[in-house]
Amino acid sequence: MSNALQDGRGASSPRIGVRRPALRIALIYAVVAGLWVGASDWVLPFLVRRPMVLTAVAILKGWIFVAVTAALLYVLVERSLRPLRESEEEYRGIFEGNPSVFLKIDAEGNIVSVNPPGAQQLGYAPEELVGRSVLHVYSEPDRRKAIENIDSLARGTGGAIHWEARAVRKDGSFFWLGQSARAFTAGGGRPSFLLVGEDITDRKRAEDALGSANESLRALVHASPLGIIGVDREGRVLAWSKAAERILGWTEREVLGHPNPAVPETRRGEYLELRGRVLRGESIDHADTERLRKDGSTIPVRLWAGPIRDPHGRILGSLAMMSDMSEQKERESELRRLNRALRVLTECNELLLRAPGETELLRDLCRLLVDVGGYRLAWVAHAEHDEARSVLPLAQAGYERGYLEAVRITWADTELGRGPTGTCIRTARPCIARNILTDPAFAPWREEAIRRGYASSIALPLCSDGEVMGALNLYSAEPDAFDEEEVKLLVQLADDLAYGIAVEHSREERRRAEEERNRAEEALRLHAAELERRVEDRTAQLTEINAELESFTYSVSHDLRAPLRAMQGFAQALLEDYGNGLDETAREYSSRIVAASERMDELIRDLLAYSRLGREELRLKPVSLASTVTEVMDHLDPELRAKSAQVAVQGSLPDVLAHRATLGRVVSNLVTNAVKFVGKGVEPKVRVRAEEHRGRVRLWIEDNGIGIARENHARIFGVFERLHGVETFPGAGIGLAIVRKGMERMGGDAGVESEPGKGSRFWIELDAAGSSR
Ligand code: ADP
Repeated sequence: MSNALQDGRGASSPRIGVRRPALRIALIYAVVAGLWVGASDWVLPFLVRRPMVLTAVAILKGWIFVAVTAALLYVLVERSLRPLRESEEEYRGIFEGNPSVFLKIDAEGNIVSVNPPGAQQLGYAPEELVGRSVLHVYSEPDRRKAIENIDSLARGTGGAIHWEARAVRKDGSFFWLGQSARAFTAGGGRPSFLLVGEDITDRKRAEDALGSANESLRALVHASPLGIIGVDREGRVLAWSKAAERILGWTEREVLGHPNPAVPETRRGEYLELRGRVLRGESIDHADTERLRKDGSTIPVRLWAGPIRDPHGRILGSLAMMSDMSEQKERESELRRLNRALRVLTECNELLLRAPGETELLRDLCRLLVDVGGYRLAWVAHAEHDEARSVLPLAQAGYERGYLEAVRITWADTELGRGPTGTCIRTARPCIARNILTDPAFAPWREEAIRRGYASSIALPLCSDGEVMGALNLYSAEPDAFDEEEVKLLVQLADDLAYGIAVEHSREERRRAEEERNRAEEALRLHAAELERRVEDRTAQLTEINAELESFTYSVSHDLRAPLRAMQGFAQALLEDYGNGLDETAREYSSRIVAASERMDELIRDLLAYSRLGREELRLKPVSLASTVTEVMDHLDPELRAKSAQVAVQGSLPDVLAHRATLGRVVSNLVTNAVKFVGKGVEPKVRVRAEEHRGRVRLWIEDNGIGIARENHARIFGVFERLHGVETFPGAGIGLAIVRKGMERMGGDAGVESEPGKGSRFWIELDAAGSSR
């Protein structure tokens, strides 16, 4: 209706344009025609002299003028009328061809004209309606409303009026007419009205179908937490429940009769497709899509839809139920996030079980957090205990682009230490920057962080033995990415990681200790080998020297014996043959020579025995210790008697592996010493006993003699080592040397336990005869 009026106004504007060129043309015409008439009247008498001819030419000129003027007039009128005709045709096209009902009504309310399709909808020919009152087309109950509306248009309250009313066809049937009417006044006269109406019967029926649902059902629709929206076949909203108002923001009043405003442009195709299916009789079980809210935001929704039918089963529109899925979507994404965090945790633990080195562990974990956890950046900070309390990145993964190089972070309580990482290390608690863009504590690093798309971040402490080693840092591309549940899981993850690092440290320490020990062992082994080599060298040298010494001793002793025998023999002969001729002193001297040479001979014999012991090949075989001891006692019997010595053999004496003669000499030397080194007036008492232990036999010879100071225990086994002068106790100092050497040569050992005044307990040890050694 309003369009039609605008078109009418539009058609009148070219007339104003036409008027001005018309005036110009008229003026030009007057000048040209005037000049033509004046000039021709002036020129002709000079050209035509004969009056008769002149009169005829003048008449002809007059007719030509009339003809030209008429032709000109025709062209001009024709041209100026064409747009008018065209616009009228256009208007007629719109008016007559339009399927809507167009009625032009005069001030009295009579129909002036009606378009043929409109008349047809009402069941009349157009001429049947022209001249009749417009009330004729309304059903009885709706006439009053029509009168009121036309009246208010006539009063010029302005604007168009829209209303719905039942129109009556010629055959008496009626249909719903949705109409708009407007008044207009042509040429300042009385107003006339243009009414444009449309058949809205279908919509009314759909509304009625919805409306006929009983009251409790309507209440239910409005009480339903699901948004319920009904639309007619053309997509105009018929019903819009309270929940729909709440979910989408538009009220029922705002949308009734209009297309659903909540369908976003991007979902229009889908919406039309679904509606088409419903209008064909299908039901939509559920469709997940999104809808626009009045505030411009979009929300995810789930739809169920089905057709609205009238009692005859005709589909009048569609009814859709809609549930707001934002919360569920939120929960789903939260669940996804948690699942992700859980997966990271599981994989982290698997990583810890695989126990790669610390570097690999940290690197792989960061990678895991980025790849599986979906964080934009993950890095591990180490808290340095230097003066600046610096923070050292140990490992990282994700979109970093020089971030850790560019930013300065410390864990000191300064501006650069009050971000998440520094605070976390200082306080040993997780620290979150929920929104890097606005968090004042994040200011020093904000620019660099925003540039790399970090929107929020968290730092988690890595503690071992109650001490913070560092922090695990995560950055998300979304603000507020770390909710309570996720933080819980991340804290657990950081704890596991810290434990893993600690285990790795101790493993590393163990490995290092082992390496050190191995190194020490190797050094020790080398050292021992070196020592052994030196001992071997030294032993070889000593053996050589000993051998030389022994052969020297032997030859010296051997060679000394001959002159000694001579000395001894001649001194003896002197005493025997010339003893009577000598005075007392001479005899005394001679006797001393004999005694000294005898002692010397004894000494030389001992030396010879000693050196022989070193050179002889001793073949060991089982020897009865008991019979050896008995033999020695028998041999020493005169000497023992002379000293009133008592020698007691205690217990049994086992067999040993030995060289019989050498063993006899060793035992003899020990028993001799035992009865010799006794205090004055003390009767020597000697005990001989044996003990067997682990295949070795130890023979003890214990006396009640003067004893030996501890510091001399080792010394007395050396050659010529004596603790007393010959005057106190006679002897050459070779007896114990022979004991030691003899035992050594038989694979045995010798020693003494003694204290001055408490007697001495000498022992020798040999393999038992039955032993496998
Ligand atoms: P000798 O008996 O010829 O002196 P030995 O080599 O047999 O030489 O003994 C060395 C020294 O050991 C002795 O001079 C003596 O001082 C000390 N000695 C040996 N046996 C005993 C003993 N049973 N009691 C005390 N001292 C002893």
